[in-house]
Amino acid sequence: MAAAQAFLDEIHEDLPVQVNDHNAYTLGSIGKHHVVIACLPYGEYGIAPATAVATQLLSSFPSIKLGLMVGLGGGVPREEAGIRLGDVVVSKPTSIHGGVIQYDLGKALTGGEFQRTGMLNRPPQILLTAMSKLQANHLIGRKRFVRLLAELEHKLSAQARGTFARPSQEDRLYAADYDHVPTGLSSKPCEACDVDRCVSRADRSDSVPVVHYGLIASADQVVRDSRLRDRLGQELGVYCVEMEAAGLMNNYPCLVIRGVCDYADSHKNKDWQGYAAATAAAYAKELLLVTSVSHVDQIRTVRDTLSSDLLGAAAVPSPRPSRSTTPVAIDHSDLGGVYLGTIRGAEIIPRLIQNPEYWRAEINTLLTQLLAIHPQWWVEARPKTAEMMNAFFARNRLTFRVNIVQRKTPRPNYSGHNRQYLNSLFHHNMGWINGWENAGVPEINMGILNLWAILEFLDRDVE
Ligand SMILES: [Zn+2]
Repeated sequence: MAAAQAFLDEIHEDLPVQVNDHNAYTLGSIGKHHVVIACLPYGEYGIAPATAVATQLLSSFPSIKLGLMVGLGGGVPREEAGIRLGDVVVSKPTSIHGGVIQYDLGKALTGGEFQRTGMLNRPPQILLTAMSKLQANHLIGRKRFVRLLAELEHKLSAQARGTFARPSQEDRLYAADYDHVPTGLSSKPCEACDVDRCVSRADRSDSVPVVHYGLIASADQVVRDSRLRDRLGQELGVYCVEMEAAGLMNNYPCLVIRGVCDYADSHKNKDWQGYAAATAAAYAKELLLVTSVSHVDQIRTVRDTLSSDLLGAAAVPSPRPSRSTTPVAIDHSDLGGVYLGTIRGAEIIPRLIQNPEYWRAEINTLLTQLLAIHPQWWVEARPKTAEMMNAFFARNRLTFRVNIVQRKTPRPNYSGHNRQYLNSLFHHNMGWINGWENAGVPEINMGILNLWAILEFLDRDVE
């Protein structure tokens, strides 16, 4: 929190908060944005406290539009990424994942396989746009956050400067099979560890932090294990592991920014924490400075985003509608679109895995029903797409992706309700425009989570 505070352009007076809100806040501004900084209570970490902080924040500040989760993470050294201490990792979605993977949510399958079921949605478009802007700026050498870090040094007292300055301790990455050698409490970290067991890496030409864009693994446990770390890197392609992001609701419009303070191995220590916190906070500030205030004004509040999702869940008929009930029964007039509930993949997916025939049938039903609701959509049936979907599903055993594109012969004047439906898809983080086909027809990628939501709906019919 101290690192984030140091980057406020102005600090504002405190405002009254709800009685049951136990967060500590600092209010202020960065550029033209009003900012509320909240942090986890001292000594607490992990998913549940993060959820509590986020929930209480919204109860006291209902107009919040966007979230940035800024903090520390353990770097996952992968050759192509060349991650170093003090670098910044920003959650960037792939075509499959929303940016953060909650890797410990799921269940162990026989044979040691672990099936992951948790995942956060894509960050909101407005932050993705700002992120691409920064990526482009940084490519041509305009790294404002580096300047912000330098400016910070002048702003701070000598003591605070020490906390956030780049440490003199060497950035050592030990071989994954070399465990930490414990020493007495008074000695320096890794004093007894063998420097010769460090991985040799090419020197960087300068000490400027590098920003890595990619997936982040989040879980409720501290990772102090180079083998687990490397497995996560290999299996999920993550750049960093952390402990809070998965505490946010799936639809919380948020970007995760982590400063790399260790390598999530047994050598993990606190030496680089202050500096890594500062680099992440500096990046967050640079990001806000390129985020358009007028766009932020136009988007919905976080509360609206989350509560209309709850509304959607409430609209799902219960208890147990008959098999013949189709999603058409959902009253979606209030939402201007269709929302089919929230995910509970953990309940559905194991069943799907136990019985592949079952899920195949379910997905067919789902697609049929989708088409019944919106006959203007049809399902991409190219063999390549199907192949990719199947391969992915088989590999990850937890998600399914479907491309839905508008029919090649679109209704004339794509507008009105269709337009609304499209918008609501985005607003609910249910899908996004993948690109534009010929003749200005948008190709939509429907979010995995959305599909889960629909599967859950279908699941209610079973038994
Ligand atoms: Zn060590």
